[in-house]
Amino acid sequence: MTPLPCPRCHDEGFLTKPGARYAEAVVCRHLQACPCCEGTGREVVATPSGEQLLQPCSCGLLALARRVHLYNQAKIPGLFHCSKISEFRCQTSSQRVTRSHFERIRDAFEPGSKGAALFGSPGVGKTHLMTALAGWMTLTRGIEVRYADFSNLIAELKAGYDQGHGEVHVLGPVTEVPVLMIDELGKGRGSEWERGVIDSIISRRYNAGLSTFFATNYLNEAPEGAPRRGPASEAQYQESLRARLGPRVWSRLQAMCTLMELQGPDARVPALPKYQSPPVVAAPRGLQRVVPRG
Ligand SMILES: [Zn+2]
Ligand SMILES: [Zn+2]
Repeated sequence: MTPLPCPRCHDEGFLTKPGARYAEAVVCRHLQACPCCEGTGREVVATPSGEQLLQPCSCGLLALARRVHLYNQAKIPGLFHCSKISEFRCQTSSQRVTRSHFERIRDAFEPGSKGAALFGSPGVGKTHLMTALAGWMTLTRGIEVRYADFSNLIAELKAGYDQGHGEVHVLGPVTEVPVLMIDELGKGRGSEWERGVIDSIISRRYNAGLSTFFATNYLNEAPEGAPRRGPASEAQYQESLRARLGPRVWSRLQAMCTLMELQGPDARVPALPKYQSPPVVAAPRGLQRVVPRG
């Protein structure tokens, strides 16, 4: 008889939760009950010569524990701990196209493959898709990922330098990680220092051929012919990613990522109930309007 799937993890082997700050995963309890390794992940095997060898148990607990560790190191926002690409709800054609693209990445990704860039206003699903991909890469594929909100990343790097750490110590983890995902790219003060740091990270990743993903609320670049003619087009130009990051970083990102634009309603804002005019009730026959006296 086929055993029933585990009611806690549905045989995925892990569970995720929002965590104190970042999403956290744990190995499911049912794997601790493996009769071969008793939850240690290693079993003792006797060789023909009588030697005893310690090797990873066939239950896969050791490999799973490593993938869970990668997920916990990725710093995925806690709110998105259970996002999945298959559960991304599409309301527009651009959302359907982007979800299909992310499904193709999920099915064929290898470290070093081209990343993706998501453009769109708040609430259209950029973070859902990116966190879902980060979760799948770590927990299912065992690929090392670092997820970062741009403002938090800048603050973290600045704190590292302020504490007296060198460049290798501060920038190493984000420049060398096989997959880097930056959310809200371009947000922040846009100071020279910030631009220098992001230039350093992107240039090194570009030269090393490392996969990079990002999402942003900014336009990719100012509309054709619009820049710097009149106050409105100047504002549009300043709000483009190209202007926020500078042409050097921007140009590299165009080569490193497939650009996708997401359009749709803000999923965080609940739809208002449609206004309905009160029903028109015909006055019963014979009823006369009462006019106040005086
Ligand atoms: Zn389980
Ligand atoms: Zn085992």
